Amino acid sequence: MSNTRKKNSKSDASPIDTVAQALHRVQRALERAAERAGGRLPDDWSIDVELSAADRGEWHERAAALLEAAREVTLSEKRPPRGPDDALWCCQCKSAECDHATAPGPRYTFDGYAATGKPTWIPFVELCLRRRPPGMDRIFAEPAGVIALKCVGDDLGEHRLAAFEPGPETWEVVGQVVAGLVPQDLDPRGQGDRFALTIQVLRTNFGGQVRFRLGLIGCTRRHVDIQAASGSERSPAEQLRRTLAAARRTLEKLERRSLDEAGQADRISALLSTLRGDLSRIFSGKVHRTKHAQRRHRSGARPTSQAVSDARGASMERVLFDIPRETFVILGRKGRAHVFSRSARHVTSMRLEDGEVTRKKRRQRWREVTPSEYQALRRQLNNAQIQGERSAEAS
Ligand SMILES: [Zn+2]
Repeated sequence: MSNTRKKNSKSDASPIDTVAQALHRVQRALERAAERAGGRLPDDWSIDVELSAADRGEWHERAAALLEAAREVTLSEKRPPRGPDDALWCCQCKSAECDHATAPGPRYTFDGYAATGKPTWIPFVELCLRRRPPGMDRIFAEPAGVIALKCVGDDLGEHRLAAFEPGPETWEVVGQVVAGLVPQDLDPRGQGDRFALTIQVLRTNFGGQVRFRLGLIGCTRRHVDIQAASGSERSPAEQLRRTLAAARRTLEKLERRSLDEAGQADRISALLSTLRGDLSRIFSGKVHRTKHAQRRHRSGARPTSQAVSDARGASMERVLFDIPRETFVILGRKGRAHVFSRSARHVTSMRLEDGEVTRKKRRQRWREVTPSEYQALRRQLNNAQIQGERSAEAS
């Protein structure tokens, strides 16, 4: 492998210098590969380098493998930007904060991208009148029933021009299921305001790697969690929570499989069909409950004890009140937060996004608690803890 001419030109460098410089150049090249993948190499990352004699082709293969390994480790460290929960990317305004990005009202659902990539919206009832799904008359009955529709592919993006395709860092809708009109408390027998619940499969091609996520329009994941926690194990809200969790697991599995676009589209279509069936069943008003589910409910399957003990130790500055939901949000460590009902029941725990607290306070979604609210919550939490310990001893 020696090359006489090159050797002579570097004759003043010692072998140690030569090897050190070569290794450093390799390391720099891997760093640049990571930068091109939109991130940086993890600090503790290292890789074995094969140095046995080889021909020119073999050296190139080894180099390609090293660069690919650097790219992969970078991507695996980096998740694409989450994107807002209830807004879509508008390719016309290049923003998720313009008026097109969010539904104009709770009864609207996404109706595909316009030619300029702008999301368009349609009232759920109008969508039904256009599509005429089976059982449509149920939505006009008294009391109104809930029906679910699946929309994929051509239903959602056929008018879009190539110049307005979303960029690699944006999420686009590949399909959705819409159920409507659903009562606010997610109980089909519920009274009061209704909304269109849209569950979307969103895709991004981030750093050359396809990622999926589930998006909700009409209500947030937290709303589902809160309703699920305040009802029984058989409540429609709890069933919806599980259905969403199962769909997320399916999408995670799909990300790990190397399928071509047609293969992915088939799987997503199948997932949406399952979701449509689930939503129809959940909001049919029929109730199923297994003995197993009853047992699990009584024993309290949620990991609440850690949340309760975190909450009990929280100072007043770390407790906020969620105004629209009437819940307490307790800021934990490492960006975690625990949500409690007014009666100190643990609703859910979540990871906060960067700046979420500031944003929610500015939008007057969250506010600080008063000393008396704080004291009342602490009393309730202490009682909850004592009761929890008693029931654990009794079982
Ligand atoms: Zn726009």
